[in-house]
Amino acid sequence: MIGLDKIREAAVQISDVIHRTPVMTSSGLNEQTGNDIFLKGEHLQKTGSFKIRGASNKVLKAVREGGRHMVAASSGNHGQAVAYIAGQSGIRATIVVPEDASPAKVAAIESYGGHVVRCGLTSAERIPEALRIAGETGGVFVPPYDDPDIIAGQGTAGMEILAQVSGCEAVVVPVGGGGLAAGILCAVKQMNPEVLVIGVEPETADDTRQSLAAGRRIAIGPTRTVADGLRTSIPGEVTFPILRDHLDCLVTVSEEEIKEACRFLFRYAKQVVEPSGAVSVAALLSGKSGLHGKKVAAVLSGGNVSVEAFAEML
Ligand SMILES: *Cc1c(COP(=O)(O)O)cnc(C)c1O
Repeated sequence: MIGLDKIREAAVQISDVIHRTPVMTSSGLNEQTGNDIFLKGEHLQKTGSFKIRGASNKVLKAVREGGRHMVAASSGNHGQAVAYIAGQSGIRATIVVPEDASPAKVAAIESYGGHVVRCGLTSAERIPEALRIAGETGGVFVPPYDDPDIIAGQGTAGMEILAQVSGCEAVVVPVGGGGLAAGILCAVKQMNPEVLVIGVEPETADDTRQSLAAGRRIAIGPTRTVADGLRTSIPGEVTFPILRDHLDCLVTVSEEEIKEACRFLFRYAKQVVEPSGAVSVAALLSGKSGLHGKKVAAVLSGGNVSVEAFAEML
């Protein structure tokens, strides 16, 4: 576990950068699921996802230690978050993206002042390239989840949830590499061990489910899921033991359940949430969370989805 002191320190460090995002309710969602649900709106976070919490904790620390160039390998929300906080700190960011990265995502990184480098199609190609660039330029590599400072930053969302939802009995959280879930576990279980924490993965990208079943980290092949932020092939070295030892349960949801959750959130809660950000609600709507009559916080982890992709889902 990462200590509560580290998460509290992170909360202070990043407080000028991030939003304390709102929690929202939807009577339609409560009726459909038989729970009292509070949606933690990280889709309304700076840069459109919770990733800015961990990224800013890590980058601001590196800047204090003299770092002047941040390097990340990500086409998605992590790349945008690193570019944004580096820009705010007046330093350079290089973001290594796949050759087929969408023009919208590249444009978002560039709009925050990030320098984009294209490399390969997989993270197995991108990460060594990012490490090489960091090594050559004296830059700091900023990993997306497998790092104590990143996890502590994501944990600040868990602290906020317990402060905003009094009497909270369960938190439902998306799982990709596990940084968000690990951070929330560290915060929530140390503040109140009675609160259940339930992780959610796509059925088609279930590396954490398989790893939990095996009791060790299992790598899976290339995955296809509409939840592109959850397309990791193996749980993190730092994150996995935290999930293994403290997660109350991990459930998987189908592609159709994820899209239905996005449609439901748009229609009833009037929120634009990207597929990765809606898996918590998919687990609740499908009944797979196993929660009944509980006061539940569901994390809406991001809202970065193109107009075209969103329209197609609707
Ligand atoms: C990165 C991401 C996740 C998964 O977070 P991990 O820390 O990798 O588990 C979930 N939702 C969104 C929107 C993301 O960008």
